[in-house]
Amino acid sequence: MELPRNPTRPVRIGTITIGDNNPVAVQSMCATHTRDVGATVKQINDLIKAGADVVRIAVDTKRDVEALIEIRQQTQANLSVDLQENYRLAKTVAPHVDKIRYNPGHLYHHERQKPWQDKVKFLLEVAGENDCAVRIGVNGGSVDPAKASQFSEGDSISPMLASALEHCELLDTLGFIRYCVSLKDSDPTKVIELNQRFAAERPDIPLHLGVTEAGMPPEGVIKTRIAFEQLISRGIGDTIRVSLTLPFDRKGDEIEAGRQILADIAAGRVRSVVDYGLKSLNIISCPSCSRVENEAFIDLAQEVKAMTEYAADYAVTIAVMGCRVNGPGETDDADLGLWCGPKAVNLKRGSKTLGSYSYHDILPRLKEELDIIISERTET
Ligand code: SF4
Repeated sequence: MELPRNPTRPVRIGTITIGDNNPVAVQSMCATHTRDVGATVKQINDLIKAGADVVRIAVDTKRDVEALIEIRQQTQANLSVDLQENYRLAKTVAPHVDKIRYNPGHLYHHERQKPWQDKVKFLLEVAGENDCAVRIGVNGGSVDPAKASQFSEGDSISPMLASALEHCELLDTLGFIRYCVSLKDSDPTKVIELNQRFAAERPDIPLHLGVTEAGMPPEGVIKTRIAFEQLISRGIGDTIRVSLTLPFDRKGDEIEAGRQILADIAAGRVRSVVDYGLKSLNIISCPSCSRVENEAFIDLAQEVKAMTEYAADYAVTIAVMGCRVNGPGETDDADLGLWCGPKAVNLKRGSKTLGSYSYHDILPRLKEELDIIISERTET
């Protein structure tokens, strides 16, 4: 079945082009430490073998940049790089990659030293000089606080949209058109609304779709499918990433899940319903990346899932995150949040930190807090 597609502009990423009626490209991200060149090249190769069109890697330090140079020499893959606050690394990174992703929510730091507009301008100049595409990657867990404060407290959609549209306008004004946008959240209903509203305003800009921190299969695939079916079958979306918490040697499963969802949509095998809502225990967990601080994170996420099965009928969200970069912010909206450090796991209830516990002690401590929430909800 020929799917309708929004008339997005073409954006080339290395050897592929997204938008302009090209096939929806499938992406993933390495979960290895970027500095471990051998493991990262192997994971890139595994992802390409599974059918990845673009592979993203995280670069946070000069050591990561040195590793990236070696990685580039060993692979022809279309590489995207994820830069966080350290946007200046773009200068040394860009010659070795095909796309740069930046998060508007990370550019407001040290605003007084350099306004975010200047940082974007710098990134675009570097991208232009090095034949790189750009992704404006807006994420529900890390929205610029200045943007969030312009809207009512319960409205998490408008600040994200406003942030994306503002950056698009700046890029357009600066004459840089080789870019796409992503608007990700761990809630598939929000992902649907965000992308539908963005596409209504800017149908010309290619969209990279994803449900972030979707968790472990099969639930993570189901959440992602819900969002992708509603969007792609309406012509919205030019490239996708399925974000799953998986053992390091199974990252290719993300690509296979993405390709299966696309094949099902193309064949009209659309199963999900639009009125998805949280009615039962919801475990969100990050897909892990180079920033994971303790590899026990993957096992911990699975142990949390097994331990909390007894609470399956309660509408409680538990977030399990792999590092301090995104962990503290992206656990704020969960009822209970865990973010993993090198030796300890930080436990939160909402935005309040309850304490830091060893990997051995965290599960019983989490259970205590979950039991408190259940008893509070049972009483009311
Ligand atoms: Fe990577 Fe940290 Fe995000 Fe997990 S939470 S995907 S480890 S940046």
